[in-house]
Amino acid sequence: MSERIDEQADSPRPHSTNRYARLLPWAVALLSILVFLIAAPFAKTPLPQVPAFIPVYESALILNDLITSVLLFGQCVIARSRALGALACAYLYTSAIALLHMLSFPGLFSPTGLLNAGPQSTAWIYMFWHAGFPCFVIAYALLKDKKQPRAMNGTIGAGRLMLVVGAVLCLAAGMAGLAIAGESLLPEVIQNNHYSPAMRWVAGTTWGFCLLAFAVLYRQRHRSTIDLWLMVVMCVWICDVALSAVFNGGRYDLGFYVGRFYGMCAASFVLLLLLVENTFLHSRLAAALDELKRLATTDPLTGVANRRAFDAALAAHWQRGVHDRSTLSLLMIDIDFFKRFNDRYGHVEGDRCLVLVAECLARTVRRGNDLVARYGGEEFVVLLPETDTVAAAHVGQRMCDAVLELAIPHGDLPHMPHVSISVGVASRVIETGVEMTDLTKAADHALYLAKAAGRGRVDIALMDQ
Ligand code: GH3
Ligand code: MG
Ligand code: MG
Repeated sequence: MSERIDEQADSPRPHSTNRYARLLPWAVALLSILVFLIAAPFAKTPLPQVPAFIPVYESALILNDLITSVLLFGQCVIARSRALGALACAYLYTSAIALLHMLSFPGLFSPTGLLNAGPQSTAWIYMFWHAGFPCFVIAYALLKDKKQPRAMNGTIGAGRLMLVVGAVLCLAAGMAGLAIAGESLLPEVIQNNHYSPAMRWVAGTTWGFCLLAFAVLYRQRHRSTIDLWLMVVMCVWICDVALSAVFNGGRYDLGFYVGRFYGMCAASFVLLLLLVENTFLHSRLAAALDELKRLATTDPLTGVANRRAFDAALAAHWQRGVHDRSTLSLLMIDIDFFKRFNDRYGHVEGDRCLVLVAECLARTVRRGNDLVARYGGEEFVVLLPETDTVAAAHVGQRMCDAVLELAIPHGDLPHMPHVSISVGVASRVIETGVEMTDLTKAADHALYLAKAAGRGRVDIALMDQ
């Protein structure tokens, strides 16, 4: 989510904060004002009454807002942000009150509307809905600037979340209840499907809340992408109220329909932003996970697989091999007199030598599922699946020759002037009853034999097949 990402000052700038992403909300706001200026003079033009329009439109709106609210509640829990919680409540409130608005709308589910609604109720629910949302947005903007209290540093429990959700639903029900049960106490805003002059005052108050929300968002020190889009939502919200409650004449005229279009835009902007950012976050998460896996299985010095990757690969081959009785070969490789090399040339040169030898070993294996790994220190292992002793010994010899061909000078060797390796080879048909460690022990023993026999050579362990 943008607020969460934007707060991570030291992380790379997220896609959403690039220049175009920050210009887009202003462009959309300008476009909606332009459309509003074109539509406003024709707002009173009567259009065909399509009663089905309201349930279709409001069902989409309710779902949009509900999904936005769920996504924001999720972000609120992850980021432990009360501000995002307030925004989630805003969308939950609009979703709930839009449902009550739809149910009470005259002529949809019953001639006078469900829930015992009177002729004024639906218009008042609409106003409570449109005044309530900016109030929540103001709360969001004010909470954003505040330092998180200590209590919020823990996780937000399901109980607390349910309490907040319950309170918001009660508020929406309470406001609708006021519009229905307290209808006689409220000024008359609609007469014969047409708005009364009192409606201008009520709509004006709603505008006031929207403008205040816009101003509070505008004066944010660090405006995140979501702040920018909420400012657009407030612009669009003003256009919605203006077209469908001030400049138009009543229900089912051009202002009424275009106002609804604005309402749908207002409901969709933040949802689209959340979905786009979620997609980007997922791709970044997948890339980070890949990198994490690579780091966890790679030896940082030499770049070949590390001991952990070798252990996992050996276990996997062993498990598979038990079923198909395949042969697995293991080469245990050790650089000869490497301590002397370090003592003579220093550890930096020693590290360079390790890298050269590792790269050389990795180059020498030919099959895709052969694995070269650093076992530890100056020891390497090579796993050769489905390879018998003779073939494995050939690979070992190729490796000995290849390392010698590197011609890394070593002035302290009794047998040659260049760095050499000793290789121990062990092969085994995998079957039940044979332990994985039998293979490593055997390869280790063969390596010991190669060392004892003068180094720079390959020795083979004899294992029962
Ligand atoms: P041998 O022929 O019997 O294997 O003799 P060796 O000197 O190679 O064996 P020994 O086990 O006595 O010494 C291994 C040396 O490898 C000791 C240590 O300093 C060096 N070594 C281990 N890991 C590293 C490393 O990451 N970098 C460097 N530069 N040296 C390392
Ligand atoms: Mg060693
Ligand atoms: Mg050694």
